[in-house]
Amino acid sequence: MRKFLLLITVLVFCMAAFAGSLPQTAQAKTIFVTIGTGGITGVYYPTGGAIAKIVNQKRKIYGIRATVESTGGSVFNVNAVMAGDLEFGVVQSDRQYQAWNGLAEWKDKGPQKDLRAVFTIHPESITLVAAEDANIRTIQDLRGKRVNIGNPGSGQRQNSIDALENAGIDWKTDIKAEGVKAAEAPGLLQDGRIDAFFYTVGHPNGNIKEATSGKRKVRIVPITGVDKLLAKFPYYARAIVPVKFYPGATNKEDVETFGVKATFVTSIKVPDKVVYAITKEVFDNFEAFKKLHPAYSVLTKKNMLEGMSAPIHPGAMKYYKEAGLM
Ligand code: GLU
Repeated sequence: MRKFLLLITVLVFCMAAFAGSLPQTAQAKTIFVTIGTGGITGVYYPTGGAIAKIVNQKRKIYGIRATVESTGGSVFNVNAVMAGDLEFGVVQSDRQYQAWNGLAEWKDKGPQKDLRAVFTIHPESITLVAAEDANIRTIQDLRGKRVNIGNPGSGQRQNSIDALENAGIDWKTDIKAEGVKAAEAPGLLQDGRIDAFFYTVGHPNGNIKEATSGKRKVRIVPITGVDKLLAKFPYYARAIVPVKFYPGATNKEDVETFGVKATFVTSIKVPDKVVYAITKEVFDNFEAFKKLHPAYSVLTKKNMLEGMSAPIHPGAMKYYKEAGLM
């Protein structure tokens, strides 16, 4: 018996040593891809995590190892994917449109011709959060207040500016605009260093929970009177922030605002087989994927193919055709 045990132990050690020498060959075959997301308390970060989790489950089949990076948001993600620093990015639908067409932040750089769409994900609303003691009940009340409109790499910065301009408010002169990352805004609000902040984000999320759970009472402020804005920019649609997600907020009713969609993008330079694998795994495991975040409750396979402006990546298209989705 002893000898037998000894033999087994030696065998196990040999196998472990052999396996230890394997990674060189295994790693050479592994394709590492990184997904750019947003602040860790938003929905992009767990979204990148959900996609990575689904595809990494099939690592042995595809040899793909996906990881997630917390970033400054949509604009940063588009630029990093175009520069080849990231393979994938979660990006607002309006920003995908602007990057593809060379508008807004891409006005000087021109159309981002290598940008490709993969699919769209959850709805995001332009969420205006304000301290109760700052007496902000409408967007008009932001005049003279200290407001975080978002960091330059974020998606929300342009949305905040659009919402303010639509209300006749000049963000450079009529408010004291701050440009910090969304993840820092709830802390600043609670500390009394800002009066309000904008965040374009899916619901529920940790950021607004944090903002509405502190000592300072906080309200989600409706953004109404947006007819002209919706007519001018086709990528905006009416949206609601359900208050049930934020019991700490002083709101009694759901909050009217406008919104966009989160989308998943890549570059034409990313190989078809990689984009195919990720698309296939997300759609083939659709029900499991949907359970990974409450903001996905409204997703259908059909609406995940709506709201893309850039051409669909050929790897994704191959799957959609195979699956009869296109
Ligand atoms: N929509 C935000 C942006 O584009 C990010 C939202 C999130 O992280 O969930 O910057």
